Amino acid sequence: MATDNFQSHDYFLMDELLSDEQKLIREAARAWVKKEVSPIVEDYAQRAEFPKQWIKGIAEIGGFGPYIPAEYGGPGLDQISYGIIMQELERGDSGLRSTASVQSSLVMYPIYAYGSEEQRKKYLPKLATGSMMGCFGLTEPDFGSNPSGMITTIKDKGDHFLVNGAKMWISNAPFADIAVVWGKDDAGDIRGIILERGMEGFTTPETHGKWSLRASATGELVFDNVRVPKENLLPNVKGLKGPLGCLNSARYGIAWGAIGAALDCYDSALRYSKERIQFGKPIGAFQLTQKKLAEMITEITKAQLLTWRLGVLKNENRATPSQISMAKRNNVNMALQIAREARQIHGGMGITGEYPIMRHMMNLESVITYEGTHDIHLLITGMDVTGFNAFS
Ligand SMILES: Cc1cc2nc3c(=O)[nH]c(=O)nc-3n(C[C@H](O)[C@H](O)[C@H](O)COP(=O)(O)OP(=O)(O)OC[C@H]3O[C@@H](n4cnc5c(N)ncnc54)[C@H](O)[C@@H]3O)c2cc1C
Repeated sequence: MATDNFQSHDYFLMDELLSDEQKLIREAARAWVKKEVSPIVEDYAQRAEFPKQWIKGIAEIGGFGPYIPAEYGGPGLDQISYGIIMQELERGDSGLRSTASVQSSLVMYPIYAYGSEEQRKKYLPKLATGSMMGCFGLTEPDFGSNPSGMITTIKDKGDHFLVNGAKMWISNAPFADIAVVWGKDDAGDIRGIILERGMEGFTTPETHGKWSLRASATGELVFDNVRVPKENLLPNVKGLKGPLGCLNSARYGIAWGAIGAALDCYDSALRYSKERIQFGKPIGAFQLTQKKLAEMITEITKAQLLTWRLGVLKNENRATPSQISMAKRNNVNMALQIAREARQIHGGMGITGEYPIMRHMMNLESVITYEGTHDIHLLITGMDVTGFNAFS
């Protein structure tokens, strides 16, 4: 059982930019991660198993749909609080944060933003407590970065819809009670529909053999002539803007989350550099180690400032998808580079489960690919600044 000695780092006194409520939310999330996540996460990651007992705790710290209003059972927090919770969860593990992100931004958000009043009342309160878990089906075997090509269909059969197709790489799929699935209707428009576990023809085989996000469950969604009631269609959105709206919210949370993983790696490396003696001195006394640590805290500080500002814009409804892309791309890459450098500082010990480094590093290899790859986010920024589409 690993000991969690984590201490956070705030080089530019960012705490002064947070409200008392935001700091309290952070302390609650941080304390829960220290108590319930750190002691077991290595073990579960090694066994490639999602600790289901975390679900109740995530709900208690407001980690499911943080910004969903109280009238639908959500915590009703602001966007910076949402980000802070994601940061603290990912400080524990990116898989843990992924579970919370999917439930919040990819399941609760579309039901809240695009759903009927009946759908909101039926699903959101249960999703907020974690008594119901959800997943989000967008990616298909042949359509990842280019979801508009999807071939899953939602056909109108008069008194019901018939869903056919398959999704892959779906977080939470193996245990989710419901799935928000994106497919094409008879007119070829992308629509969202809610599928429930137990519907005939709907299966969720688990994906095995991952070297990354091992403490998070991933699977496929297979639809073989699934009859879905008419009232399960999300009525208020049509087209790719539906799933992209969800991804915007999730990517924003990931930008914060990656800072958590980076802080954990930096904190561990800093402590190790003061304790590990080589050539008669702590390795932190050598210039090359200091270069690594100094660059790490510089990059973390830049990301903290960028992301806080993004949170302010998000609270004001002014954050653009391109700004969110820039922050997701920058922060995840920053965290991955820091994980790699932190691994070097830990020497051979860095590859063991004694330290969180290798787990974070492997996790971040997924985070840099999902919710838009590193290069796709670059193209989004490129298109935003030049006006030219370099995707196709
Ligand atoms: C652990 C994990 C969990 C996930 N969870 C979910 C989930 O819950 N729900 C869901 O729907 N999806 C999920 N995904 C899927 C994820 O979003 C996709 O993997 C991602 O969008 C990339 O798609 P792809 O893997 O098919 O790669 P591809 O799209 O095939 O990309 C392969 C490479 O080609 C590059 N590329 C593609 N197009 C271009 C272009 N136009 N120009 C330049 N380069 C290009 C990419 O940047 C990448 O480097 C998950 C993935 C992982 C690994």
